[in-house]
Amino acid sequence: PFKQRLLVVANRLPVSAIRRGEESWSLEISAGGLVSALLGVRDVDAKWIGWAGVNVPDEVGQKALTKALATKRCIPVFLDEEIVHQYYNGYCNNILWPLFHYLGLPQEDRLATTRSFQSQFDAYKRANQMFADVVSQHYEEGDVIWCHDYHLMFLPKCLKEHDRNMKVGWFLHTPFPSSEIHRTLPSRSELLRSVLAADLVGFHTYDYARHFVSACTRILGLEGTPEGVEDQGKMTRVAAFPIGIDSDRFRRALELSTVKERIRELEKRFAGRKVMLGVDRLDMIKGIPQKILAFEKFLEENPSWHDKVVLLQIAVPTRTDVPEYQKLTSQVHEIVGRINGRFGTLTGVPLLHLDRSLDFHALCALYAVTDVALVTSLRDGMNLVSYEFVACQNAKKGVLILSEFAGAAQSLGAGALLVNPWNITEVANSIFIALTMNPEEREKRHRHNFAHVTTHTAQEWAQTFVSELNDTVVEAQIRT
Ligand code: UDP
Repeated sequence: PFKQRLLVVANRLPVSAIRRGEESWSLEISAGGLVSALLGVRDVDAKWIGWAGVNVPDEVGQKALTKALATKRCIPVFLDEEIVHQYYNGYCNNILWPLFHYLGLPQEDRLATTRSFQSQFDAYKRANQMFADVVSQHYEEGDVIWCHDYHLMFLPKCLKEHDRNMKVGWFLHTPFPSSEIHRTLPSRSELLRSVLAADLVGFHTYDYARHFVSACTRILGLEGTPEGVEDQGKMTRVAAFPIGIDSDRFRRALELSTVKERIRELEKRFAGRKVMLGVDRLDMIKGIPQKILAFEKFLEENPSWHDKVVLLQIAVPTRTDVPEYQKLTSQVHEIVGRINGRFGTLTGVPLLHLDRSLDFHALCALYAVTDVALVTSLRDGMNLVSYEFVACQNAKKGVLILSEFAGAAQSLGAGALLVNPWNITEVANSIFIALTMNPEEREKRHRHNFAHVTTHTAQEWAQTFVSELNDTVVEAQIRT
């Protein structure tokens, strides 16, 4: 049967490449949500295009890596160190990431970077053009091209300039901020216009989509319609496509004897205590200091809980060479030390903070033994940790405390305890409510969330986006 080709373009390929010799590479697949999502799309034949995360200056190495990646259906874009520095570390992570999460443009520590803003933006455009060139080399008529995330906002325009018949979709995995925030960005108009070159533009939530349409009407003066944005008769469809997880992967993991063994070990280790869990990259957007301050307040107000609860915080190191992230790390360590100093006893401490990542099975076991998960993001596109926790809780039916500023609050709001992470008192109270909630209510809330997480999966998300993109293109052809 005919299978439509889908070219998935993202900054990073879903594989890590390690060079073993002049012409030899070893590849490790990172089995994230996006990978399984696309494996689940029916009747398409997907290929990945992106950066392999390594600098390969020599042609021999590039050829060998290209060949190795081809066996994994991956096509590399080669970026040199200077462009990675300016485009990826600079424009993407230092400008767009904080801005889209409402942290604003660089100030104080990062102020120096506003002077190199223009050169970083130029590098961003150059990098996007390099992605476009690789896409063009591999494009065949009828292919669907799906561009991902804030790294590639320039790509739709580059692609349509190459061939206006390409079917191009773009999806943003972060929030899209209020137009009042977006308009502070020096290249605000150029970025919006290039995204609008796509046929379909997707966001996690209806709010993000609405913010994007407002930015186009207020900043570009275009017309916003319920369908999207219209520019001189050309329509760009804008809609919400909330991502999900591959929930079966988690359910299957919990059936493995190795995972069951780990669960028993953890239960033994934490016997007599309720387990609270946080799993976040150590990023400012995750609100980790706010979370542990709320936990401190809870302990202050509830002495009887001191030796009956433990908060396990997994803080995955990220962007560790950036001073602001280093500062956040020491700030968090300071609060953790204070709390354990105040509330620890000779036999135990209430807060276990780990600066590390866990493998998939360890993470599943941890999700399964947790009584209360604590997600306090100050802003978060969706937050998949909250979904993964729910998927692993069918036996325990624990409680999810969830920030109203995570995209997931739109979908898990009825089952979770929603909090404003800035309100330490409210979060501390919610911890008490969660720890003492009766089993009937926990069950009811869990059932609601579980139904959502297991039906709105990553596969369904990808399937919906791709068919919507095909439909959008057909409708546009009918109109002209
Ligand atoms: N994760 C992981 N190892 C860890 C901790 C987390 O692989 O030690 C994964 C987790 O399973 C989830 C992802 O990292 O799929 C985090 O996604 P989320 O949307 O919550 O936040 P992001 O890091 O993308 O901002």
